[in-house]
Amino acid sequence: MVKKRSVDKVLVRKDIARLFELAGVEKDIAIADSHVNLARKTAMKFQIPLTASQRRLYCHSCYRILRPGVTCRVRLYKGKQVFYCFACKTYTRFPYSKK
Ligand SMILES: [Zn+2]
Repeated sequence: MVKKRSVDKVLVRKDIARLFELAGVEKDIAIADSHVNLARKTAMKFQIPLTASQRRLYCHSCYRILRPGVTCRVRLYKGKQVFYCFACKTYTRFPYSKK
């Protein structure tokens, strides 16, 4: 039986947050997509759930980065933020609270 490596999940969470941060500021969409993919794969490998703000950064159908006006359109409808992905033409809805 293969012995499992112990991994400090705090460090992995920091890496994932850093990758999403880099994807947010990257001008080249292809590079931003690769940052998002790497962050997702890392989170899946170490079984770390993404935060709510991180989940809103990419399309849940084609996993491309969602950047309003560039790769997606955002509308508010019935208490939800509706993201329309230009690449795969899928709608993704996230609820928001009015404050
Ligand atoms: Zn998409």
